[in-house]
Order: sequence, then structure tokens, then C-alpha cells
Amino acid sequence: DDVLISVRNLKKYFPVHAGWLRREVGQVKAIDDVSLDIRKGETLGLVGESGSGKSTVARLMLRAYSLTDGQILFRQSDGSTIDLSQLSDREMRAVRREMQMIFQDPYSSLNPRMTLLELVGEPMIIHGAGSQGEIRDRVAELLQVVGLRPEFINRYPHAFSGGQRQRIGIARALALNPSFIAADEAVSALDVSVAAQNINLLQDLQEKFGLTYLFITHDLGMVEHISDRVGVMYLGRLMEVAPTEQLFAKPLHPYTEALMAAVPQPDPRGNRIRKRVPLKGEIANAANPPAGCAFHPRCPYAQAKCSAEVPALRTVEGGRQVRCHFAEELSLVGAVA
Ligand code: SF4
Ligand code: MG
Repeated sequence: DDVLISVRNLKKYFPVHAGWLRREVGQVKAIDDVSLDIRKGETLGLVGESGSGKSTVARLMLRAYSLTDGQILFRQSDGSTIDLSQLSDREMRAVRREMQMIFQDPYSSLNPRMTLLELVGEPMIIHGAGSQGEIRDRVAELLQVVGLRPEFINRYPHAFSGGQRQRIGIARALALNPSFIAADEAVSALDVSVAAQNINLLQDLQEKFGLTYLFITHDLGMVEHISDRVGVMYLGRLMEVAPTEQLFAKPLHPYTEALMAAVPQPDPRGNRIRKRVPLKGEIANAANPPAGCAFHPRCPYAQAKCSAEVPALRTVEGGRQVRCHFAEELSLVGAVA
């Protein structure tokens, strides 16, 4: 079918050590049983408060971190599907041509001592993808593709603004013709107007090159704008997955509703900002997550079952997925007033 990446029961546990002998006393379940499909050509948004594990999921998918358990099934450009969790680091290096990442901080993610030619051309050099002349031509072309002048090829990153540096990072990510790009808070450090320009660029590039995106952000407005579908994470667990419009119109998980309520909404009957109920309480400690539903201490709808039984991620109406015992009974309010 049309799935590019299928993550199955992904787990990342860290041992916790304590005491003078640094004995292992427990585990942090940073990522616990995340299953997720990303379809070819779509943008899947991943939202959640900081510490929810959304960056970790992306890094596990690209095998930047080792996983504790689970499968990452990836459809390669030749049509074959491989399980990335089974690959050696060396085998993974070859696959990484097709999977790239864009980072948040355009100031620290580029080596200041490298020219644009070196920065954008480096992935091609590493993968032996062309002669020096071919690489120079390709870099010039990539600079144009991201809206930078090819004459800049011998300049250093300090000569550029934050938004332009991000474009340099995008050009670098495109160098090896990837099919998949994970963007982790990619435009969060930029001014709103510059962020919007770079979002537009990412959308143009997606169309032009048939790219598939995993777009990680804590900004619900941005995720609503850019995503075809959205996954909501809490304490390393996926709480809900739905098409964007449906999620914002009618969340099925109380945590999704709470996230939306924390964002001020314009009042449809006036121009005032309508204050909504803020999300109460702190995100729990991942080293000692609440029993049962991890959200239960903060959930206004929690019942006895919620602290006793871990809800499964279930498929409900319209193929939507939700991890809540009472998703059908609750009638939650979305972001659209
Ligand atoms: Fe709230 Fe219970 Fe649903 Fe968890 S399972 S989100 S505590 S109602
Ligand atoms: Mg993060």
C-alpha cells in the first residue's frame, strides 16, 4: 500500500542507577509501545509537551538512538521494505541517504568553519556521490532550490540570517535525494514571518520532490497548518492519531482536548481572545510514570479503571486511533468553537 514508514511497538527504556554502587534500580520508559504509520507524501505532525518523547521517536526512527524493542519498517526507493531495527550501523548508513533530519537551531547545527559548498556537499562526499565538479554543480542547484543565490557557495554560515541558515540546513538535507525528512521543531527558533516563509518552502519542496515529512512541534497552530494527520504524545506514549481536521474539530482523547484548551482561541462573536481552561498539573516523571493511563492524574474525566488498567491504542470511528478507556462515552470539545 502507500505506507512509507511503519513503526511497530517501539520502545526505548533507559536504566536508572542509584546509590554508591550505582545499582540499576529501575527503568525510564522514555518511549513505550509506540506504533505509527507514515504514508508516502504526507506530513504527519507529532505534538505534545516537552518531555513527551516526540524528538526521541524521530531519532529512533532514523536510528540515531538505539531502540530497546520494536520494528521500523521502511519502504526503500526500490520498492523493497526493510526493518531498520535489524540493520547494523553500517547497513543503516546506506539507508540514511533516504532519511534525513532538519534541526531546530540554525545557529549551532552548521559548522561555522565550513563554506556552503562544504556544508551542503558533505553528505555527497561521505556517500561518494559524484566528482568534485558534480558536487559543486549540485550544491549550486540545491542553493537555488531553497531560494539562496548560487554565488553564495564559498561563503560561511555567519554571513546569513537565521532563516537563511535554516535553508542551508534544508539544502544539506536534500543533497542525497531523500524520500523522508524529520523536522524537529524546525522553525520554532525563527520569527513568525521567517518561520512562515520556511514552512512554505518545505511545502513547495514536498510537492516538487514527493517528500514525506514527520513534523515535530509543540505549536498546535503550526501543526494544524502543515499536517495531514497528527499524532499526540504524552509521557512517551501515543495518545491519539487522527486526520488534522477531525482532530481539531473533535479530539477523542482528554489530553488532546486539554492541549487545545491551553491555546487561547479567538471568540467567534467578537474579536476578543477567549480564555480557555489551562492544562492543570505538571507532566509526570517518566522515571516513575502513573499506573494505568499515564494521563490519569491530570485527567478531569478519570475514573477508577483509569489508574488500574493501561488503555490500549484502539482504532475507533473513521479509522482514528485513541488510547483512552472512555473515548466513546466522552464528548470532548475541539479547537473550533
Ligand atoms: Fe482520562 Fe481515563 Fe481516558 Fe486516561 S483512560 S484519558 S484517565 S478518561
Ligand atoms: Mg524535543
